[in-house]
Formats: sequence, structure tokens, C-alpha cells
Amino acid sequence: MRENPLLNIDGLPEFSKIIPAHVEPAIDQIIAENQQIMQSLLAENTSYDWENLIEPLDLAQDRLQKAWSPVRHMNSVVNTPELREVYNACLAKLSAYYTDIGQNTELYRAYQSIRDSETFPQLDQAQQKSIDDALRGFRLSGVSLPEDKKLRFKEIQQELSALQSSFEENVLDATNAWTKHFDSVEALSGLPESALDMAMQAAEQRELDGWVITLEFPSYYSVITYADDRELRQSVYEAYVTRASDIGPGDGQWDNSENMIRILALRQESAELLGFVNYAEESIETKMAESPESVMQFLSDLSDKSRTFARMELEQLSSFASEGLGISSMEPWDIAYASEKLRQEKYQLSGEELKPYFPVDKVTQGLFDLCTRLFGIKITEVSGIDTWHPDVRFYEISDQAGNLRGRFYFDLYARQHKRGGAWMDECINRLRRAEGIQTPVAYLTCNSTPPVGDKPALFTHDEVITLFHEFGHGLQHMLTQVEYPDVSGISGIEWDAVELPSQFMENWCWEKEALDLFARHYETGEAMPDDLYKRLESTRHFQAAMQMLRQIEFALFDIRIHADPQSVGEQGIQGVLDQVREEVAVLIPPDWNRFQHGFSHIFAGGYAAGYYSYKWAEVLSADAFARFEEEGLFNPMVGTEFLQTVLEMGGSQKAMDVYKAFRGREPTIDALLRHNGLAA
Ligand code: ZN
Repeated sequence: MRENPLLNIDGLPEFSKIIPAHVEPAIDQIIAENQQIMQSLLAENTSYDWENLIEPLDLAQDRLQKAWSPVRHMNSVVNTPELREVYNACLAKLSAYYTDIGQNTELYRAYQSIRDSETFPQLDQAQQKSIDDALRGFRLSGVSLPEDKKLRFKEIQQELSALQSSFEENVLDATNAWTKHFDSVEALSGLPESALDMAMQAAEQRELDGWVITLEFPSYYSVITYADDRELRQSVYEAYVTRASDIGPGDGQWDNSENMIRILALRQESAELLGFVNYAEESIETKMAESPESVMQFLSDLSDKSRTFARMELEQLSSFASEGLGISSMEPWDIAYASEKLRQEKYQLSGEELKPYFPVDKVTQGLFDLCTRLFGIKITEVSGIDTWHPDVRFYEISDQAGNLRGRFYFDLYARQHKRGGAWMDECINRLRRAEGIQTPVAYLTCNSTPPVGDKPALFTHDEVITLFHEFGHGLQHMLTQVEYPDVSGISGIEWDAVELPSQFMENWCWEKEALDLFARHYETGEAMPDDLYKRLESTRHFQAAMQMLRQIEFALFDIRIHADPQSVGEQGIQGVLDQVREEVAVLIPPDWNRFQHGFSHIFAGGYAAGYYSYKWAEVLSADAFARFEEEGLFNPMVGTEFLQTVLEMGGSQKAMDVYKAFRGREPTIDALLRHNGLAA
């Protein structure tokens, strides 16, 4: 076999050369070598310090991260059965590897000895935090447990990583399995031309005539929002909200029910092994929030502030649906449709009217120009880079002094075999090496509407917001100045503060001065007319309270199922969700809605007992943006301070300290309420 491209990655991964057969041998080899390195380091030295232990371990760890990252990424965006198989095989090995490190008593003692040594105070703040975080990590891996419990903890982690992966696979497979084919366009009446073009393209890709709709988000969204045929909306809704469940058109083929029960039981068991009462407490241990109770209190306060507004919004929607659309009893598949019609009537604004002003090239260039004005960085495209798909583009970021700061891949469009949603992931982390600084690289992934035919991709305003959001995560990963991987970029940041830069970036999509940088008609090049902007701005609070309650419903559900295993046992997962809905929701979905079966954030991703982070961090992001509102949107001093604190310091200090360094005080909730139209 030719050389394995996953070993010794120096520079960018060579995606086109990576095949499934490379994965296991590379991961096996690096794991074995890393274990060897760790043993020798522990054996060779009698007293430990940063240079003789942590630095070489960080380098070894970095080699594994660089090999695994492209595999994890390709498994998400160009999934195949072969890749999936080797990915899952490695997940088990990696889980065991990481638990072994976390439970290594000798290594734990070595770290503790550095913590207790006289040299500790001479380390810089980031190094100190890195060591403290590591010590906490050992405790949360069960380092102090007796051997039999250590072993059980390790088994749990392995089973959990397999279950979480299986959860995600079920969602992807159920999403890919459902399509609907149409011979005549009349059946799709109401869909805007861009959506019809997309459906025609989806048919072509399947070598069919006519039109095909799918459950990939842009397609689902277009039907549920625009299709006049109520039965069609109903069937698409039913397919979408029963994905990966026991019912619906998938016929239970990708049912996540058992996975979910097992995942919760294992999380509870591992929390108890560590001495926590429940998994929510374990999760909160590493977050800004003090306890699950304080999270629930925060969410119910927000819910109280939103409910009156939300009821009024729903009232308005219902009467519009009945009087304006003749829908006397609104069903769940009417909500998006009626809302869009109401929005059009109330603000004279349709989403379609905006799209021509958001062609992909202008939007991305505008995003980059905005970052130049705010943070003094320059972003340029680089061609000829090896990637995993022809749609992918690649860029580099340099700072005012001309230094290369980071690089990133853009993979923006929805397609088959690509996981839904949008996210930023780390490809390469910032790290000091003997040769110099290794600069960070990010993957920025969205599922936006793809280009159709010769037209450029035209984004919805929501898709623009999503792109800005993910880019905010990317900025924090790439602009970090911290050189120790455990606390650089987004690493080491309390999870409930991680949505600060991302949600901060969303705000710019509502500002005329920022939109003027990029909202240009794709055919005429004209800037967005004032009148159109005013109509867009006036929709900012449209159904904001209902959306707020929806997020609170998800967050409360998440924290409850992780904080109250007894209720889950008695009422089932569905029962807990029903109860949460009764308490906070103004719109109760039908009892066959299986939203939770596709809730990857908490069952497969990093948001378990942490979904509230979006709202928690929105307090920070809204309050941070308020400083720009107060001192000038493009005030370069404020931009520089945001860069030098939130974006560059990463996890090297506590999130609240970093925040205070920017804002000069603790955050208040006022700006969040104001931005959501909920201020008293
Ligand atoms: Zn985010």
C-alpha cells in the first residue's frame, strides 16, 4: 500500500487520497505510538514540568487529532457505508484511548505534581488553566474510582459513543430515504420558482423527469412554507417529524427509540459512578451555570417574559388563517404556510423578494469585508486546494501585520449523504511547535439552498444568518492567540459561553450599514433599496416570542430528561416532553410528532444537558453587541477589544472574566429582551 495520507499530516489533509482502508491502520498506529510516548515520558522523568510532560503529550495528541479530524468530517459530509464502518470501529478505540488517559493514575499524579510545584505560579495564565482543566478532566473520567468501577465507566463511554453515532446515522438514513416525485408542476403550486428549480434539479440528479422533493432542509422548508396543497404539506410534515422513529413512512426502520432510552440510562449511570446525582449535574460541572436548578430558573423566567407575547402572536396567526386563508382549524402543517402569508400581508415582504440580494459570492465577500472593518483581518480565497467535494472553497485569514492567522473550508450547500444542519469543526488547532506556530484550520459547513443551473446560489435571510453564526465560531477557533491546544480556540471554553461569538455575528445581518456591504442584487448589482430594508427590519420581531418559547421548550426538555431520571422512567421521554410543552408551549404539536427522535444536538452532539447554552450565551452575545450599538457599530476600538478578548483569549481564562475584560462589567439580560422585542 502507498503511504497512508492520515499519518504524519503536515499541512492540510489530502482529502482526495483518503480512502476508508486508510482509517483504521492510521488510527491504530497513532494510538499505539501515543501510548508508548506517554509511558516513556512518565518513566523517564522523576520530576515533571510543562516542557518534559505536557508539551510532548500535546504534540502527540495533536497528531491524532489531525488524523481523526478529516475522517470525522468526511463521515459527516460525504457519508458512505464503507466510511461509516471504519469510522464506527475507530470510535470505540478512541473512546477507550481517551478514557484510559483520563483514568491513568500515574499521569494524574504527574499533573498534580506540576500543579503543586514551585514552578506552577511561573507558568502563564493559559498554561495554569490548561492544567486545572486537565485535573478536572481526570476526575470526570473516574481517575479516583476503584478498578472495577473504572472499567465499567470505560465500557459506558464506549457504548455511548457507538449509540450516539447510531442515532446520527438513523437521522441521516431516514432523511435520505424519503422523496416524493411529481410529473406535473401543478401539484407544487405555491412554491416559488427557485424552489421549483431546486426540485427539478433533485429529479435530474435521480435521473427522473419532473420534480422531486426531499427531506433535506431547503426542500422541506420550501414545501412546508409555500405549498398551497394542504395534503402535500401534511404528508411532508408527517415524514419530517417522524424521521428515525417508530412511526411514519420510515416504518420504524431507523427507529431511535431504544437508542434514546439507552443513552439516557448510560449517562445517568456514569454520572452516578462519578458521585453526581444525575447527568445534568455532571454536565453543569464544566459550565458557567451553577446548577441544573439555576438553568431551569433562567429558562422559566424567560418563558414567563415571552408567553403573553407568544399568545398574542398565535392569536393573530389563527385569526389570519381563518379569515384570510379559510383555515378554520390550524394544523401543525399550516403554521409555516400561514405565517409566511401573514408576514407577506403584514410587512409586504416575502422571503423570495430578498433572495436576489443574497447571492452567495456577495454574501461571503460581505461577511469578509465586515470582519475586515471590525477586526482588521483580511480574508482571501486560495485555489487549487485538495477537498472532499467540488463545491468546497478554501480561504485564508491574515491580520493587520500580514501574519497568517488561520484558514478555512466552506462547504455551504445541502446535498445527499451530508448531515443536516450547520456547524464549525476544527481541522487543525493552533499550537506552538519547534518549527513555529501551527495556524488553525476550520471546516465551516452549512446546508443552504444549492445553486441551480447557471444562477448563483441565492440565500434566504435565514441562511445568511446561519452562515454568519457559524463564521463566528470559526473566528474564535481561527483567531485565537493561545498556543496550548486544550485552552486555545473554542477548547476549554465553558460550553454555555460557546455560542457568544456565533450569536454575536448574527446581529450584523439586521443592520443596514452591514447589509450595505453585501446585499446586492445578483443581476443588477443594486444595493438593497431602503424600503425593502425597512420591511425586512420590521419583521425582526415577527413571531419572536413563539420562536423563543420553542427554544425554551427544547432546552427545558433537554435539562429535565437529564436531571430527572425518575420522571423519564415513569412517564417515558415522550411524557416528559409533553409535560414541558404543557408548561411553556403555546403551540402543542400532535402526539405523534417525534421531534425528539431527530434531536441530534442532545442525543448525538455535545449539547446534552446543555441545549440551554443558546439562550444562556444570547444574554452575553446580545449584551456584547449592545456595546457596538452604544459606541458605534463600526467603532474600530470596540472591534479591536472584541478581537483581543472574546476571539483571541478563548478558553485561557474563565468565560466570565473574558467577558468582563471586553464589557467592563457582567452581562445584563436587557439587550436580549430588547433584540427579541420582549422588553417591558
Ligand atoms: Zn452555534
